[in-house]
Amino acid sequence: MKKWGMAVLAIMMIMPANRPAVCGKEKQAIKKTVQKDKKEKKKKVICIDAGHQLHADTSLEPNGPHSKVKKMKVTDGTVGRYTHVREASVNLAVALKLEKILKHRGYQVVMVRRHEKVNILNSKRAEIANKAHADAMIRLHCNDMGESHTHGFFVCTPSRHNKFMSKKLIDRSLQLSKCLLPAIEKQTHANNRGLSYRDDLTGTNFSKAPTALIEMGEMHNKQEDQLLVTASYQQKMALGLANGIDAFFH
Ligand SMILES: [Zn+2]
Repeated sequence: MKKWGMAVLAIMMIMPANRPAVCGKEKQAIKKTVQKDKKEKKKKVICIDAGHQLHADTSLEPNGPHSKVKKMKVTDGTVGRYTHVREASVNLAVALKLEKILKHRGYQVVMVRRHEKVNILNSKRAEIANKAHADAMIRLHCNDMGESHTHGFFVCTPSRHNKFMSKKLIDRSLQLSKCLLPAIEKQTHANNRGLSYRDDLTGTNFSKAPTALIEMGEMHNKQEDQLLVTASYQQKMALGLANGIDAFFH
């Protein structure tokens, strides 16, 4: 009996209490998995298109491959009714923050623009994503409903009737848009207005990557206009976008 007791005690002493054993080999395996995960993520290319630019180019271009419908090449966007900050500047500020987060998470990022003074038509923006073989294209905008009481964000996605994109691309774009909505809501606590089906967006119609155009807020709503220009709200927006992108690839 005494010997038994000693034996049990000895076994108990060599068994770790409530702690899962991680041996050297396991540690190595975990390290390898983390490295592999990072490598896998690195392969994902995200193209970020900060909507608009300093000066509009009002000459026309087709709104999709071989389309007879023509739209302005690129406009200069709206302006905050209260802050008088230009939409193009807000879009760029969020784009640069999103780039930083995505790079930190191991993505490869391709920026359509890093400055205000550029002239990049909307079809060219999609071409930049296509040339980079982007796995997703994120188009950043702010909206202007012209109503002071409307507020919140929404995501524009191609409808299933879009004649410029394949069924697979339409489906993937929808998946991407659906991943972004709750992720943005969680970070910003803004009014989630859901999806808007749009087949007239040149930069989306020319894209060969799953594409989502995010209208990040209303610049004619006092509270939202004032929020959208702050670095802290832009960071929340960028974080929500990055989390949505993560969710899309997992
Ligand atoms: Zn816009």
